[in-house]
Amino acid sequence: MKSYEEVVELLKSKGLSESDINDKIENKIEEFSGLISKEGAAYMVAAENGIDLKEKSDNRLKIKNIIPGMKNVEIVGKIMRVSSVKEFSRNDKTGKVCSVYLGDETGTIRLTLWDDETDVADKIKVGDVIKVYGYTREGQLELRLGRYGKIIKVDEKINAVPINEKNRSTIKSLSAGERKELRAALVKVFEGKPIFYRCPICGKRIIEENGVLKCPEHGEVEPIPSLVVSGIIDDGTENIRVVFFRNAAEKILGMNAKEVETKMKLGKSAYDSIELGKDYIFSGRVKRNDLFNRLEFIVDDVREPNVIEEIKMLIGDENGKKE
Ligand SMILES: [Zn+2]
Repeated sequence: MKSYEEVVELLKSKGLSESDINDKIENKIEEFSGLISKEGAAYMVAAENGIDLKEKSDNRLKIKNIIPGMKNVEIVGKIMRVSSVKEFSRNDKTGKVCSVYLGDETGTIRLTLWDDETDVADKIKVGDVIKVYGYTREGQLELRLGRYGKIIKVDEKINAVPINEKNRSTIKSLSAGERKELRAALVKVFEGKPIFYRCPICGKRIIEENGVLKCPEHGEVEPIPSLVVSGIIDDGTENIRVVFFRNAAEKILGMNAKEVETKMKLGKSAYDSIELGKDYIFSGRVKRNDLFNRLEFIVDDVREPNVIEEIKMLIGDENGKKE
């Protein structure tokens, strides 16, 4: 929130005089019969004069909202890991590839650099915070730069979530806010509508207003279909409600959003290939649902258990694992 004085300064920068500003603010307070504060009135006057006072960081695209098929992604993330640049040859061409793992407070994503783009790998290091202008391809949850993309170092602090955290827990001992990994059976799936629509710019959920699909920030946009599946998992200690979004939903359904859309248009169920009772490893975060006063698990990733990994974990050989 900007202070009253800051808002007044912004109004002055729009060419309004001090007395003019005071008059407008007084009038606004009167208009609302004194029910709004001086600050509130100043905010309204600012909005009427075309000043955008919304905190930019709130509207920013967060990693958890990145989905396949976004043409213009602008994201700020902290570098969690950079792979070495690998050369490869395909047919009779040679190329280079490098993966940069970025994190913010909502999740992590891989940025893949190709050929000349890999030159930047020498100039960045783990811990740097960078702004990336890029895109995601259809059906692929991975950032790319492309012809118009770029990377800029920025001076910002980001509390990124750790990547690949093997923080195995039981459902019984979960508490709100934690990031954990669970091994459990998927015991129920709620067969609701698995598709909703997101804004191609900010990735937020699109709402319907008078029959028109709109992003609250960006107005009428070409919506991107996105998946959501919810169910219940049980690990023998307890059960918990789980929600799968994006690629986790894709993995559990065995289909991407476009394929689900097509199936539903044909009047078929999107849930046919789900095997109830099957064991999975779920990674994600624990969230409190205040409405129902219960914990829920938001799944970022789901995979089938790897037998050797599981045995090592059982015999406590976890620390001996190789990167
Ligand atoms: Zn938007």
